[in-house]
Amino acid sequence: MQAIPLNQSPRPSLVWLRDDLRLDDNPALNAAAKEGPVVIIYILEEGAGTGRPLGGALKWWLHQSLKSLASDLEACDLKLLLRRGDPKTIIPQLAQAIGAKTVHWNRRYYAWSKLLDSAIKSKLNTIEINAISYKANVLSEPWEVKTGAGGPFKVFTPFFKAAQPLCDTWAQEAISTPKLFGFDAFDYPSERLQDWALHPSKPDWSGGLAHMWQPGEVGAQKRLEAFLDGPIKTYQSDRNVPGIDGTSLLSPHLRFGEISIRRVWLAARNAMAIDSTLTKDGQHFLSELGWREFSTHLIYHFESFPDESWKTPYRTFPWRHDPITLRAWQRGQTGYPIVDAGMRQLYQTGWMHNRVRMIVASFLIKHLLQDWRLGEEWFWDTLVDADIANNAAGWQWVAGSGADASPFFRIFNPMTQGEKFDPKGDYVRRFVPELTKLPDAFIHRPFDAPKELLQHYGVTLGQTYPHPIVDHDTGRKRALAALASLKEQHNGEEA
Ligand SMILES: Cc1cc2nc3c(=O)[nH]c(=O)nc-3n(C[C@H](O)[C@H](O)[C@H](O)COP(=O)(O)OP(=O)(O)OC[C@H]3O[C@@H](n4cnc5c(N)ncnc54)[C@H](O)[C@@H]3O)c2cc1C
Repeated sequence: MQAIPLNQSPRPSLVWLRDDLRLDDNPALNAAAKEGPVVIIYILEEGAGTGRPLGGALKWWLHQSLKSLASDLEACDLKLLLRRGDPKTIIPQLAQAIGAKTVHWNRRYYAWSKLLDSAIKSKLNTIEINAISYKANVLSEPWEVKTGAGGPFKVFTPFFKAAQPLCDTWAQEAISTPKLFGFDAFDYPSERLQDWALHPSKPDWSGGLAHMWQPGEVGAQKRLEAFLDGPIKTYQSDRNVPGIDGTSLLSPHLRFGEISIRRVWLAARNAMAIDSTLTKDGQHFLSELGWREFSTHLIYHFESFPDESWKTPYRTFPWRHDPITLRAWQRGQTGYPIVDAGMRQLYQTGWMHNRVRMIVASFLIKHLLQDWRLGEEWFWDTLVDADIANNAAGWQWVAGSGADASPFFRIFNPMTQGEKFDPKGDYVRRFVPELTKLPDAFIHRPFDAPKELLQHYGVTLGQTYPHPIVDHDTGRKRALAALASLKEQHNGEEA
């Protein structure tokens, strides 16, 4: 890469895109565009201190999303520069080579990213280049929402009460795509996206994902519009029904920042202002966005939250080591239809309904007594919305080890959960086709059906569909016994 003679051209700004793959309402991009020409880079981060490598489903999404972003930029006569490696080296080198005045980026909140960003900032400062970061991925910065005593919140309801006014104010400041000018003087070489091998091959397992999703800013906008056109109206009740599309399906778009959280918040608020019948459903939706804020708040203030149980007694929980049942859970072969449907939905589409995420997580942690981190790892590899904060918060909520979590002793019964939230078995039938013909009464408990009935409908347990890998009652009692032993170990301390 050759440095350009600085006297020949106005100095550009460098924009480093990360989890904010959009042009609309992008504070870093907007600030850079105000200064003059821009150079835009995305780095596939590798090297010491660059965080957890992306899982397979995230890689697939990233490939499509970068393709879409590059083509949106091309329409503005701009290139997306791609580099793979350590941002601590790449950003200062590139900024210097193009004679950048300033480097702009939007903030991330993980422990490693805070260190990375400050290392890069000081490197840039030593070569007299400014570095400015912005709030873009959340509505409330983790340090803006404080308890009366000035500390972080550990309980959701008071957190959200304090955060909501900030969210409302900040959402009003959403900004449209700025007029962008490229930096003609510097013909920078870019790596080729296809050389990053993010898209799976040999085999290409991504057909189900491609069928369901349209990664990129346009796809995100379409999802938001579809949600506002329908599901928001019945969100409060339908969000719990996995057999229908009752939620926004925005999570992977938010994960990659293809739509700004301000836009989503504002769109829901505006819909509620126009139609007063939406008040309850809309407010419930805002509170789910609030859980996203809360998860970020937690990982920012409690840096080890993604890696270990937040409540210390749980760090010595007597987990079982059992790769065989873990594998059966991962593959959707547990013999419990709602669990298997969820795990297969995940594998086929890269997404799972929230209610079912709670059921499958409870099953792994409690019925199978396996460390929540094994489930978190599997979700990290298979979810298109896998997010360090939301994933760890979701798993620790179910495990009872997190902040404001569901207590461990609350063990979901997979049959009654299925019967309550999927009463006609629509969801199970979609993802567990071998049970399609079973009558509703047995769709969530084939093991309770008379043998002749199963035979009549072409089901042979142990052959066409597995026997339960653990008996519900036995699993439940074993989990409660493990909890009791943990309490004993910690002298009765609430676990
Ligand atoms: C074990 C477990 C693991 C999870 N892992 C993830 C994950 O890796 N990434 C992820 O985005 N969500 C995760 N969730 C939260 C939730 O399941 C998903 O955000 C939701 O299902 C996404 O679907 P949606 O966009 O249609 O949600 P909607 O109901 O339409 O909600 C809108 C948005 O609010 C946010 N949101 C909703 N529920 C939650 C929640 N409970 N916690 C935090 N944010 C929430 C998401 O950004 C979501 O896109 C997990 C939940 C559990 C129980």
